[in-house]
Amino acid sequence: METTRRNPMTDYDAVVIGAGCGGLTAATTMAQSGLKVLLLEKHNIPGGCAQSFYRGRFEFEASLHQLSGVGTEDNPGQIRKLFERMGVLDRVELVQEDILYDVKIDGKLDIELPSGRVELATALKKSFPEEGESIDGFFNFLYDFVYQFHACVYGKDPEASPEKYPIFFKYALSSTQAIFDEFLPNHQLQVCVGSYICYVGLPTETLPFDRLAVTLWSYLEYKPTHFVGGSQAMSNALIDCFVEAGGQVKFNCGVDKIVVENGCVKGVVAENGQKFTTQYVVSNASSIDTYLRMIDRDQVPQEIVESLNSKEIGVSAVTVYLGLDCDPSELGISAPCSFLYENSAGLNELYGNPQKAPQACLLTSYDNVSSTFSPEGACQMVLIDLQYGELWQSIPANEYTDVKYRYADQMIALAEKFYPGIRDRIEEVEVSTPITNMRYLSTPGGSIYGFSPYSKDMRMFSSTVSPIKGLFLAGAWVTGGGYEPSLVSGVGAGRAAVKQFQKRETVS
Ligand SMILES: Cc1cc2nc3c(=O)[nH]c(=O)nc-3n(C[C@H](O)[C@H](O)[C@H](O)COP(=O)(O)OP(=O)(O)OC[C@H]3O[C@@H](n4cnc5c(N)ncnc54)[C@H](O)[C@@H]3O)c2cc1C
Repeated sequence: METTRRNPMTDYDAVVIGAGCGGLTAATTMAQSGLKVLLLEKHNIPGGCAQSFYRGRFEFEASLHQLSGVGTEDNPGQIRKLFERMGVLDRVELVQEDILYDVKIDGKLDIELPSGRVELATALKKSFPEEGESIDGFFNFLYDFVYQFHACVYGKDPEASPEKYPIFFKYALSSTQAIFDEFLPNHQLQVCVGSYICYVGLPTETLPFDRLAVTLWSYLEYKPTHFVGGSQAMSNALIDCFVEAGGQVKFNCGVDKIVVENGCVKGVVAENGQKFTTQYVVSNASSIDTYLRMIDRDQVPQEIVESLNSKEIGVSAVTVYLGLDCDPSELGISAPCSFLYENSAGLNELYGNPQKAPQACLLTSYDNVSSTFSPEGACQMVLIDLQYGELWQSIPANEYTDVKYRYADQMIALAEKFYPGIRDRIEEVEVSTPITNMRYLSTPGGSIYGFSPYSKDMRMFSSTVSPIKGLFLAGAWVTGGGYEPSLVSGVGAGRAAVKQFQKRETVS
């Protein structure tokens, strides 16, 4: 790969701030296009959310429960294609899950849901025989909606009209709850098909249906996937591809400032005072941090400041990581992912509150599908619910530890209702809260998905190209959260930067 420096006036052709999913794919895209790229990461390892950490003999997956958009060789999704192009596919081992997830509602429902549209509909009809018609109706609607959404939004069909895409035009702004009320009134069925609200960042009343629809569709079409070695294996593979293409990376090197003069990027200044000149910067830090902290205020267009101020910081999470000294089968766990609900809980109880006992959570145990995940005879279990950072930021510092461990204890108690005996097998425990995420990810409120994905905001923060010349953004704060959108956004940002770079070099 040609990596010769193309612009002799600057230290680097491009600098990337942050080695999360979006930063890694942006950096690799640019390096593989021949640019001289420097990647600066605050933390001491790559990945951002996509990393692992050690406690005792366990290597815990920090974030990934299920990766969407991978698919198979015969039916590749956009993430498989992206990995193939970059050379990641040869360096990671993917595990596809045939089970979408289990749903357990205490005393009411216990169902294993397969991945795949037909298989899922069949399983639901078996458990809800009287609801066959509405199940078929819902899936027909879902697939029509997603097809029309793709054509209008991603395909940007210039002839899009209400006549051509009637379902999309009628329901584009509908909330998830409104769609459920119309197409799937049965509450238990709503829980069965709607538990992925956990992956998109708003409760059903305010969540635009398109977010859930596209997410559910992607997992159904391409099946949930994870990596042997966890998401750290993916992040390491991306770094290897980047370095192989001539990229340079500095860890423990946070960026303090993006230097902008007369509306154009001129370079970055690291927290340690080191300066790097460049005309192109891709920021994988939050857009709030990028615009409101790293760039001098007089260089930030007023409409950007106003638009950032009008958005809501997205949700964070409480996660309990457990290392257990037994096989998952000893506890009766068979699915890699299970959504657990108290008897009276509904979908929206996946959004928790530190002052109340948890009513619902997601339990992940990869050891069911990947024997190399934990040491022999042991397994790990991760419990998670979603919580807003501000709820945790308002807890007095001297109460924080108590609240954190009390909540974790309550989450374990909830999981034990479905899998008794967990507590007796615990060898390691670690707990993260929105405060932990703030510290490790440097995101406002510890948000794991960027801004809340309200329809009104989506278009405004979906551009990877900034009005500041030479600045690009990648990651959850641009396209919405999750691995798939963040990885894809980095490619978009990287390509846009390469295009501008090549144009400028040709002209000058
Ligand atoms: C517990 C948890 C569970 C999750 N589960 C799933 C799941 O199952 N499926 C799914 O699709 N998604 C899941 N997500 C969400 C997903 O992980 C994130 O939305 C996605 O990884 C965000 O990627 P990003 O590109 O925005 O970067 P981030 O992961 O936010 O990383 C940004 C990087 O930039 C660095 N950085 C920030 N500021 C600076 C600076 N000034 N200088 C240098 N470096 C800086 C940070 O240190 C970090 O490494 C989960 C997240 C969490 C936390």
